[in-house]
Amino acid sequence: MTRKTRVSRRLRQQVAQRAGYCCGYCRTPERITGHRMTLAHIIPEAQGGQTVIENLWLACVACNEFKGVRWLWVQAGWWPPED
Ligand SMILES: [Zn+2]
Repeated sequence: MTRKTRVSRRLRQQVAQRAGYCCGYCRTPERITGHRMTLAHIIPEAQGGQTVIENLWLACVACNEFKGVRWLWVQAGWWPPED
């Protein structure tokens, strides 16, 4: 079961600013992708993740398609990499 929560424009703005307008996965800046980034849950809602700024980051179109795989990486402790 997937429960979708609407993300307000304001929250999206806060997340984008916090992320530096870069994809949370590949760090590509939004202005380079040429596409509006998707707001992605770090912990999926289906796994109990909440729609709060701490659990959201930006995902470019390419990464968003793979976020199911990334979630496995997160669970395995491989993601996100330390800066
Ligand atoms: Zn990306």
